[in-house]
Amino acid sequence: MQQLVDAFSRKFFYLRLSITDVCNFRCTYCLPNGYKPNGHKSFLSLDEISRLTQSFAALGTEKIRLTGGEPTMRRDFTDIIATIKDNASIKKIAVTTNGYRLSRDVAQWRAAGLSAINVSVDSLDPRQFHAITGQDKFSQVMEGIDAAFTAGFEKVKVNVVLMRNVNDKNLPDFLNWIKDRPIQLRFIELMETGDGSDIFNRFHLSGDVIRQRLLNEGWLHIPRARSDGPAQVFTHPDYQGEIGLIMPYEKDFCVTCNRLRVSAIGNLHLCLFGENGIPLRDLLADDSQQEALQQRIQGGLLHKRETHFLHQGDSGITPNLSVIGG
Ligand code: SAM
Ligand code: SF4
Repeated sequence: MQQLVDAFSRKFFYLRLSITDVCNFRCTYCLPNGYKPNGHKSFLSLDEISRLTQSFAALGTEKIRLTGGEPTMRRDFTDIIATIKDNASIKKIAVTTNGYRLSRDVAQWRAAGLSAINVSVDSLDPRQFHAITGQDKFSQVMEGIDAAFTAGFEKVKVNVVLMRNVNDKNLPDFLNWIKDRPIQLRFIELMETGDGSDIFNRFHLSGDVIRQRLLNEGWLHIPRARSDGPAQVFTHPDYQGEIGLIMPYEKDFCVTCNRLRVSAIGNLHLCLFGENGIPLRDLLADDSQQEALQQRIQGGLLHKRETHFLHQGDSGITPNLSVIGG
């Protein structure tokens, strides 16, 4: 089996694949005015997704996360899971979702081969949830998380974008919520994107504030596995749940990078905050192109930079995270 390695000896086991830019929510930090179609883009078809993921699997990818936009808005979402599952080398198929379809469909996704779920819930207060997402769907999302447990998922990860004076004061409520639930609650630092400088300047808060509180209250930092995402994970003997912190502005965040991204139109992105992307779609039309596709992916990886340039206020070309999937 080949292995994707970059010029800094980082190995890539993890692909984050966006399958649509479309989203039905209007999160203040992502799509505050809702999704606006940009030209007549067609997103990767089921066959293209199948070829793409086969090539990544042949290059050592073990884990694929489906994201977007809102990935579950694809009508063929269950078929996409099943197609990826057909490849025995992919050990883990995950989704990041706003959760609006969970209660209806999660059992079907699990049967198709989905192995992990991340749901975004920025507030446990229904009114604040509505204000942040533009959707009055807090109860529906909560029912969805319960449905995921009923369907057999042993753990659910919940993403919370940390925002100063919005949800940073809610740590006690979040901790209370995970006391007896196997939820890994992950605070993600707000990231600056092309469209979001104002929001960033107003609401960004370092995850260190949360980390210090956790350490003071007896939480312990645990080590990460090779295909894990970037979260620092903390556990506590009194809690069934865990806390994760994703702090992209912290020094050395990029040292442990193990993931690549492909956008919904088939461009390979070496970094969330990178460049225009390397087109792969012309090599997804036919099975006979697999070798050329693998060579292009490997060749592209040689251009991966050592770190992002967020600290210098350079967020690359990404206008918002729905475009290449957060
Ligand atoms: N629609 C799905 C969802 O919201 O879970 C998947 C796509 S969304 C772009 C993926 C993750 O990125 C979500 O957890 C979202 O909260 C996060 N996100 C979006 N914009 C962000 C930003 N500017 N900074 C930090 N996280 C962001
Ligand atoms: Fe949609 Fe997810 Fe962006 Fe919210 S964060 S607007 S749910 S893509």
